[in-house]
Amino acid sequence: MIDYENLGKLNQPFFKEFEESFHKTLTGGWYVLGKNVETFENEFASFTGSKYCLGVASGLDALILSLKAFNFQSGDEVIVPSNTYIASIIAIIHAGLKPVLVEPNIDTYNIDPLKIEEKITSKTKAILVVHLYGKSCEMDKITAICKKHQLKLVEDCAQSHGAKFKDKQTGTFGEFGCFSYYPTKNLGAIGDAGSITTYDIELLEKVKMLRNYGSKVKYVNDVVGYNSRLDEIQAGFLSIKLKKLNDINQHKRKLASIYLSNLKSDFIKPIVHPDYFDVYHIFNIRHEKRDELRDYLLKNEIKTEIHYPIAPHKQLAMRGILDNQNYPLSEEIHQTTLSLPISYFHTEDDINKVIDVMNKF
Ligand SMILES: *Cc1c(COP(=O)(O)O)cnc(C)c1O
Repeated sequence: MIDYENLGKLNQPFFKEFEESFHKTLTGGWYVLGKNVETFENEFASFTGSKYCLGVASGLDALILSLKAFNFQSGDEVIVPSNTYIASIIAIIHAGLKPVLVEPNIDTYNIDPLKIEEKITSKTKAILVVHLYGKSCEMDKITAICKKHQLKLVEDCAQSHGAKFKDKQTGTFGEFGCFSYYPTKNLGAIGDAGSITTYDIELLEKVKMLRNYGSKVKYVNDVVGYNSRLDEIQAGFLSIKLKKLNDINQHKRKLASIYLSNLKSDFIKPIVHPDYFDVYHIFNIRHEKRDELRDYLLKNEIKTEIHYPIAPHKQLAMRGILDNQNYPLSEEIHQTTLSLPISYFHTEDDINKVIDVMNKF
């Protein structure tokens, strides 16, 4: 059986260092907001090329805290892609704002810059871009739109650690870059974790207060904050894995290149373009008989996933918020997309087996 993902196998190369780090943190006796978190924040800022990084409890919290930091008015609008993982939309709602969905470009699966301006109103305050599947959005066009309409830019980088647009990393274009270190992400912890990157010291101070009860000085609370702290154990693990993030990304890029050159053209493959350095958090193809293909692969001992089976506006959770809206491209993607195995532990042999089976479909 070829697994889609196997977190034990993925992390096996790090077990020994994890155990040493855990032991050090355990016996050190400082478990929340200590040296490990500070070290990782500095390392990740430097890795991405951002000025600052702030560890938080999850990718969702990174998004919520970032949106909260602007002090927008309740009901203000934030533009977001219609085919994102629902967390991006949930974050906007939790921040008391209104999500306004924009359809993706069907070739890149990312928000279509040509469709953004028609959705801008006097209430629009920000664009929340999502670098889906490990490919950056078209950041030159998007930053130009933000500038023209004086909008804030927040980047959901949960799937794009290390991805670049024209040699600049995701998470360095907007006021905030929001990262998730959920175990399956390209840089994954052994539990929940996240971070926020920013170039702006004042915004950094705001999210820093928000993550710790709205407090700068112990027991002095300036704003109604949250408890969203990255813990020392996870930060220690993340520092260890960050050293291998380039290797992880290169491995996924190698496996992707094998798929790209060898999968037959019946499958719609991700596009490759020199402006983009893709990190393939997910390697998806599209096929009109997606469900049949998925069953066929499973019968041939190959596990796959669907990202995502239901479009956000079709979710029960969005009743009264996004229903009665139409996003045909988004629905088409959700009905035809299939994610193929592409983890750090997969070998080139594994991928060649998947390709052999797929090409006989
Ligand atoms: C994983 C993910 C999130 C949420 O991250 P968590 O750490 O699970 O809260 C947000 N946006 C996207 C696009 C994601 O893939």
